[in-house]
Amino acid sequence: MDHFLPKGGLLHAEEVPLNRLAEEVGTPFYCYSAATITRHARVFRDALAGVADPLLAYAVKANPNLSVIRLLAREGYGADVVSEGEMRRALEAGVPAARIIFSGVGKTAGEMAQALAAGVGQINVESEEELHELSALAAARGATAPVALRVNPDVDARTHAKISTGKSENKFGIPADRIPALWARGTGLPGIRMRGLAVHIGSQIAELGPLEAAFARLGALIADLRAAGHRVESADLGGGLGIPYDPAHPAPVAPDAYGAMVARVTAGWGVRLAFEPGRLIVGNAGVLVTRVVRVKQGATRRFVVLDAGMNDLIRPTLYGVYHDIRAVTPRPGRELATFVGPVCETGDTFAEDRETSPLAAGDLVALMTAGAYGATMASTYNSRPLVPEVLVKGSQWAVVRPRQTYEELLGAERIAPWLEEGE
Ligand SMILES: *Cc1c(COP(=O)(O)O)cnc(C)c1O
Repeated sequence: MDHFLPKGGLLHAEEVPLNRLAEEVGTPFYCYSAATITRHARVFRDALAGVADPLLAYAVKANPNLSVIRLLAREGYGADVVSEGEMRRALEAGVPAARIIFSGVGKTAGEMAQALAAGVGQINVESEEELHELSALAAARGATAPVALRVNPDVDARTHAKISTGKSENKFGIPADRIPALWARGTGLPGIRMRGLAVHIGSQIAELGPLEAAFARLGALIADLRAAGHRVESADLGGGLGIPYDPAHPAPVAPDAYGAMVARVTAGWGVRLAFEPGRLIVGNAGVLVTRVVRVKQGATRRFVVLDAGMNDLIRPTLYGVYHDIRAVTPRPGRELATFVGPVCETGDTFAEDRETSPLAAGDLVALMTAGAYGATMASTYNSRPLVPEVLVKGSQWAVVRPRQTYEELLGAERIAPWLEEGE
């Protein structure tokens, strides 16, 4: 459920009409609904009522805007971060270090040192090599790294190949059969405290089966470790729950069903559970509002050319996925069009042969369900400045990231000294 609904024939974000925001901030822009984010944060928490004291760590990479992280921190959420930049954002937004989980397959020595200095609650280690590096770094600074080993359970999440992370051929995690030996080694390493296991098999997962299979694998490993006399305190079950993008299709997984499955599978584990939801919390809490530049009749199709492009929202180009397109001020009737951006690539297509309300130059449309992996994956390709982000709460709204100016875009670069004039 979201709070982007038509009122009086005009699409609103909560109480704010989107055309008013377009007048104030220009187009394109991202608009987030605080009520929707809060709602999802609570729905997910409620779904886990059968789990004692879970650590809910919002996956910052889904939408790293500081206001979004702070809103979730106020809901009691921690943060799952995958870079020093994301860790800095979480801390800046007010997430206590103890509630930060540092994940990622390519943590640099610098990032591990920063994580130790900040005192993050958990570092998810993805290889034997990384464990030894972390041990050396921690020991050198007299620190103790709280470690969870990320398991690669060799489970097919049955999602898009580019966001599937739990198969043995993927770069993520440690093969399950190596976990017991690595854990034993870890307990003897200086600067390391072995705390738990972690798993994350992918994103936009549409069925519970693969998740349950991965969790069962984790449960079996915990039992093995205990049988070998080890103390296991925590299990991190990752994120990955899918959300509905196409209104014609039902929600892929209900959080309630997920929560019930988790409670059943993890009963008796005797560990503190952590979760890392991203898309589920923010995905349909955001839209990308864009203006029709012109409608162009091609040889075989009608093109609606938008002022937003693949550089602003790359998901359709990268994954070939569906985003619903709604007119902000719908007209009677339906029309077929192919929705494209201004970028000089044929891949810059949001939807092919899509039926929407009739559109003309100057009209506003909203690309729905753009709150996750939207603004954060944007680039300045074609030298297009990053677009603003607006957060709405009831009838209030705030620009939580202003539009990048051309001065900022060009001012970030330098002419090589030998190319300066007169040289
Ligand atoms: C991306 C990611 C998540 C969040 O995935 P969603 O599908 O957005 O819920 C959680 N944990 C890790 C380790 C990730 O890389």
